[in-house]
Amino acid sequence: LSLGIYIHIPFCQQKCTYCNFNTTDFQGALASAYVPAVAREISYWGNKLEDPAAEPASPSFAIDSIYLGGGTPSIIDEDLIGVLIDACRASFRVLDDAEITIEINPGSMSKQKMETWRRAGVNRASVGIQSFIDRELVSLSRTHSAADAHRTVDALRESGFDNISLDLIAGLPEQTLRDWEFNLEQALSLRPEHLSLYLLEVKDGTQLYSQIKRGLRPSPDDDLAAEMYTMMHQATTTSGYEHYEISNFAKQFASPRFVVPAFVVPAASGVPSGGLFFGDQQKPPETKTTTMRSVHNMKYWTGAAYYGMGCGAHSYDGRSRWINIKKTESYIHAVASTGRGVAETSVLSDDERAAEALFMGLRLAEGIDLAAFQANYGLDVQDRHASELARLNDAGLIQIASGRLSLTDRGMLLSNEVFVSFV
Ligand code: SF4
Repeated sequence: LSLGIYIHIPFCQQKCTYCNFNTTDFQGALASAYVPAVAREISYWGNKLEDPAAEPASPSFAIDSIYLGGGTPSIIDEDLIGVLIDACRASFRVLDDAEITIEINPGSMSKQKMETWRRAGVNRASVGIQSFIDRELVSLSRTHSAADAHRTVDALRESGFDNISLDLIAGLPEQTLRDWEFNLEQALSLRPEHLSLYLLEVKDGTQLYSQIKRGLRPSPDDDLAAEMYTMMHQATTTSGYEHYEISNFAKQFASPRFVVPAFVVPAASGVPSGGLFFGDQQKPPETKTTTMRSVHNMKYWTGAAYYGMGCGAHSYDGRSRWINIKKTESYIHAVASTGRGVAETSVLSDDERAAEALFMGLRLAEGIDLAAFQANYGLDVQDRHASELARLNDAGLIQIASGRLSLTDRGMLLSNEVFVSFV
């Protein structure tokens, strides 16, 4: 059984205008107290999850992904990242080829940090670029420039990172189609292995929400956002990326590639398999189409288990969900007294598990295998949701082919309309 570990680092230099994540201003002393608390929580769950019947050397599960997210993990002392990864290794069986990702803000980077992370085992970098246009970065209160973003990706490559993901946001207030095209061109020119391209969502409680409400910024234009979404799909797929999830795009390779585990593309995805001939002295290696999907994020979309460590982190074990205490100082106190920082737990009913698996699975391009879904969750989706499926099919939002239910391209854009139909 493979599990993922998410580690939350809540610190940021300043709050971005669109952000509603659980963050706090960076303070070195608080970070120095926080990291040992998270390491202690990792050890708590390691002890709890180990199968008491198994030998210590052969626990019943293995870790195939560690994701350091935030907040801004790159802001803290680089040695503290190693402390957290070592804590995972001390308490769990972390696979040699586990994907270990760190989220990076180009405003808090140095070559020394990157090299220290590499030595600690980090093998994937997710860079929060958001835009390559300085005036857009200023309007979002980002702390870096477009030039910083380019320098960061170059330095990551020089430090040996061969699995880089870039985050961009489309549909910003005042952003034109040409601006978005420029951002996409810049991102693709850096040849990342993965792209996360999000349409802006203006969330209640953010600075941007109040700026729009007070008339200081225009509301995002839905029609323009739809054009941007179409553009991102076309630009990425013609550049060799698989649009594998509503907002995520993975570089595809038609030959073996010796990096962290990549995914074999399911037959139903329609991606052709291919191969390269390696010369007649050598038997051609077995070839298949692989893509650089995020191992960690795939857990969220396939209903796999993951354990969240740190303040505000979420966890799911296949049956229950729980969320940790959000406030950093309160989390540290809770871990000091109980070893863990859980605030709230909910046990999902069978119906809730099935509904969640349906929403999350439909986010993926290949959608869900209806027979496997029924076997796993005891729900015949076509029977239970016959009228909704007929209506969504007529609207061109979903399709059923080869026993799989999936969103169409239009359905990916209007996914929220599809999801509410199944509530
Ligand atoms: S850097 Fe990321 S987590 Fe921090 S405030 Fe900005 S968007 Fe939020």
